[in-house]
Amino acid sequence: MQDNNNYDIVIIGGGLVGNSVVCALQQYPQYCKKLRIAVVEAVPATEKLQTDFDVRSVALSYGSSLIFQRFKIWQKMLLQASPINNIHISTRGNFGSANVKAEQQKVPALGYVVAMPVLLKAFYDKFSEFDNVDLLCPATVSNIERIATGHQLTLIQDGNNKQINAKLIIVADGTRSKTRDLLHINTKQTDYGQYGVTANIGLADDHQNYAYERFTATGPLAMLPMTERRAAMVWCVSENQAAELKAADDVTFLKSLQETFGYRLGQLQQVGVKQIYPLRLTQAMELSRPGIVLLGNVAQTLHPVAGQGFNLGLRSAVKLAEVIIDALRNQQDYASNQVLKNYESQQLQDRATITLYTNFLVKLFSNNVPMLGYLRGKGLLALDLLPFSKQPLIKMNMGVANQIMAEYL
Ligand SMILES: Cc1cc2nc3c(=O)[nH]c(=O)nc-3n(C[C@H](O)[C@H](O)[C@H](O)COP(=O)(O)OP(=O)(O)OC[C@H]3O[C@@H](n4cnc5c(N)ncnc54)[C@H](O)[C@@H]3O)c2cc1C
Repeated sequence: MQDNNNYDIVIIGGGLVGNSVVCALQQYPQYCKKLRIAVVEAVPATEKLQTDFDVRSVALSYGSSLIFQRFKIWQKMLLQASPINNIHISTRGNFGSANVKAEQQKVPALGYVVAMPVLLKAFYDKFSEFDNVDLLCPATVSNIERIATGHQLTLIQDGNNKQINAKLIIVADGTRSKTRDLLHINTKQTDYGQYGVTANIGLADDHQNYAYERFTATGPLAMLPMTERRAAMVWCVSENQAAELKAADDVTFLKSLQETFGYRLGQLQQVGVKQIYPLRLTQAMELSRPGIVLLGNVAQTLHPVAGQGFNLGLRSAVKLAEVIIDALRNQQDYASNQVLKNYESQQLQDRATITLYTNFLVKLFSNNVPMLGYLRGKGLLALDLLPFSKQPLIKMNMGVANQIMAEYL
């Protein structure tokens, strides 16, 4: 009989990345079915699946859509996703602009915008097929202690304390990770001096599956195509501007947005609930210890300029699953320092490349020096005229290459 409190793998945080690890492992049923897995999640599914005008969405790279195909959850998601067929990049106050088309890249779409509840529902539906996975929810972790076989976790579930044991803990409880604090893992923070104002915008016209990235003196402004004639806006501005935009009434806000963005999406008609995020790069100083590994936003939180946070987290989930399965195949201890450091070294390369790329975009397109503005304009024009020169940028956004920025820079 199975001991209910002993797990091979405990994932703390059943968000996008935590759930992705489960699907990535299940791609190898021969090995995975022997693993007993628990996902500890603080927020109940009923709450996470709620949807309305203001629902949060994520831009998935084309590469991420290929991973979801392998997880066999893509077909359902696709029905409710908004494909990005064109990306239009421009700089406010300069003539240069670049237009990237899916057909030029010989892919069905450059990426897809998917609402969070759609993504999560696809995960939950898939989980019902796995009889080796327990979802412990709503539950949080209040203590972690090293024991001979791995770690003992104290959970708070239904107001009661409960102890479970794990050979391997995968920490995936997001940017403000309490588990990272419990483990005393420090972070390094780089403040971009920008705030992201996000909201869904109701459009008078169809967006025709265009994504727009407009670089302004204060920071980038992205408008991504969503279902139901909406665009997901991320507008990066100074702290004062963010406070002003948040406090502005709908008419004043839409006028300001329309002035900055222009009329490429026609009349901007409606603005939903606005959220503000301080934009900083947060990197955990340790990605693994024996029996513990950090994944997703716990490991690094990126500037949303290039929409890479989850795409990077998804790739890390796939990589970690491969390393764990390889260890099982070779009869190694998958929670050992050696195996987890192997994962870590692969992951650090991807993280460094994406961080370099993101910092490059933030710096290049947020600096208000006139000459730089002129060069940016020229740069964007060159990008459009010389298709080969924009390949690295496009491939990075499509998520199918991660070694290219060094060449590009
Ligand atoms: C404005 C904005 C726009 C973005 N746009 C994009 C984009 O277009 N494309 C992209 O790839 N990325 C984007 N990102 C980044 C992306 O949202 C994150 O990288 C991604 O959500 C990280 O997933 P995660 O699973 O690591 O963390 P989360 O999604 O935050 O999940 C963490 C989970 O842990 C749970 N949890 C928290 N604390 C506890 C606890 N103590 N115990 C148990 N469970 C807990 C939470 O309820 C949650 O379910 C954007 C981010 C922002 C801020």
